[in-house]
Amino acid sequence: MSPPVFRFAPSPNGYLHLGHAYSALLNSDRARETGGRLLLRIEDVDATRCRPEYETAIYEDLAWLGIAWETPVRRQSEHFGEYRAALDRLSALGLVYPAFESRAEIARLVAAREADAPWPRDPDGAPLYPGDAKLLSADERDRLVDTGAPYALRLDMAVACRRAAGLTWNELGERPDGEHGIVPARPGAWGDVILARKEIPTSYHLSVVVDDALQGVSEIVRGQDLLHATSVHRLLQVLLGLPEPAYRHHRLICDEMGRKLSKSSLATGLRELRAAGVTPAGVRRLVGLG
Ligand code: GLU
Repeated sequence: MSPPVFRFAPSPNGYLHLGHAYSALLNSDRARETGGRLLLRIEDVDATRCRPEYETAIYEDLAWLGIAWETPVRRQSEHFGEYRAALDRLSALGLVYPAFESRAEIARLVAAREADAPWPRDPDGAPLYPGDAKLLSADERDRLVDTGAPYALRLDMAVACRRAAGLTWNELGERPDGEHGIVPARPGAWGDVILARKEIPTSYHLSVVVDDALQGVSEIVRGQDLLHATSVHRLLQVLLGLPEPAYRHHRLICDEMGRKLSKSSLATGLRELRAAGVTPAGVRRLVGLG
């Protein structure tokens, strides 16, 4: 049997904090305990938010924590062709359509619909896509694309769910509701998610699924903030014929107000803690890893 493969997959859009340290250390501990491999993946598809200095800081902070990862590191911005190929496979299945509404138009459509009744939200609290770009004729779509109008490529969730009914995942951690083991996936709760944009030929959901499969990741250890996204990931894995990894979602490290840490909360930034004299062993204690 090949050894289990783990990955830590930060986005270089800010400095790492205690929450990242917890996730990275859990991955590293699991790899050590199981004789597995630990990969590091830089999730930098969004060029408007990612910066080279944050990527450099990721390497420094993880090395300081005593974490060792395999090289070369996979940087998602170097693999747009692979995401494009996956998108083309989904398009060939008739599961992808361009939607031309801007964010402001979407907000207006949602407000108009909410005049009658509350409009459904996704598990992260964002309104589901309210438009009907799906109904455009092929000619009309082509005409709009030819005008150079920006668009997002969305997954036709209803059709996709019909192709992949009865989806589940294997949860090795614990969901906030205490459920674990084989749990139901509910991708429909996300509506017609964005898979790519005219200017970025991928999205978080698509690239994470493609990469986990290409890199042979067998156990995904990540925070419970991504628990519900797993439903979309399982759906894409089935549609693309990719292997199914196991998932271990872990508790989130919160501030004293009980809020999830953010990359701007300086008090819990690894660089600030290091400058204040906290040691790597101290970081382990702070996140409850003794
Ligand atoms: N890049 C994501 C983040 O920084 C994590 C992706 C994942 O673990 O699936 O939140």
